[in-house]
Amino acid sequence: MSNMYPETKSWNPAVGCNYDCVYCEKSFKRQIRRVAAHIGCQDCYDYKPHYHPERLGRIPSSPIVFVCGTGDISFYESKYVWRIFRVIDAHKPRMKKTYYFQSKNPSVFNLYLDWFNGNLDKVILLTTLETNRDEVYGNISKAPFPTTRFHDFLDLEYPRKVVTIEPVLDFDPEIFLRWMRLLKDQGTLEYVWFGFDSKNCGLPEPSTEKAQRFVDELQAYGIEVRGKNLREVTLKTSQEARA
Ligand code: SF4
Repeated sequence: MSNMYPETKSWNPAVGCNYDCVYCEKSFKRQIRRVAAHIGCQDCYDYKPHYHPERLGRIPSSPIVFVCGTGDISFYESKYVWRIFRVIDAHKPRMKKTYYFQSKNPSVFNLYLDWFNGNLDKVILLTTLETNRDEVYGNISKAPFPTTRFHDFLDLEYPRKVVTIEPVLDFDPEIFLRWMRLLKDQGTLEYVWFGFDSKNCGLPEPSTEKAQRFVDELQAYGIEVRGKNLREVTLKTSQEARA
């Protein structure tokens, strides 16, 4: 996660997740196993949700901090999540920071909405939607189905949201576009992060042409698209997109 967004570092006072996404094996799980060997943590190695309170006092100096980026906050006890919030409250960085909280079960954010809304200037909430298609999703992950996830994210009473469409899976353009437009119309969508699988996981992907049409439509609707691992897909500049 730390390499995913520019100027971003993961802060991992909790680690691990039980959603077992097929593409996690070559990405987060592989990364954390290197750390696990170094620090001798079996739970990190097994990617079992667990805590590293010794890291609470070590918020990275980057402008953007991905909180628990090597895991999913939905697996952590709320009293521990509140410890994380208190550390953020007490932190006085020299430069303004933005904290990203991402979950594949965005309904969990409802537990903490008061704190998030009290920190609007520095918190962005994210969810991943690789596709709109529920029917294939059981082969990909144990996370809530995309339709549930989208509606939970849409219903979240929070004004700063980002959708990560990475690694993109084949999708139904009309439905998927409608979802992004609904978030845009709601006025909560700051941008969409888009990218293909970079680890050769053999995922069911859209063609480059289909992906290009999709990002073109997003941009034409005024949705900012950022990304990497774009293959031949190109993003317009904001001026081109408006033209
Ligand atoms: S939700 Fe994220 S951390 Fe959890 S298994 Fe999937 S990719 Fe890995």
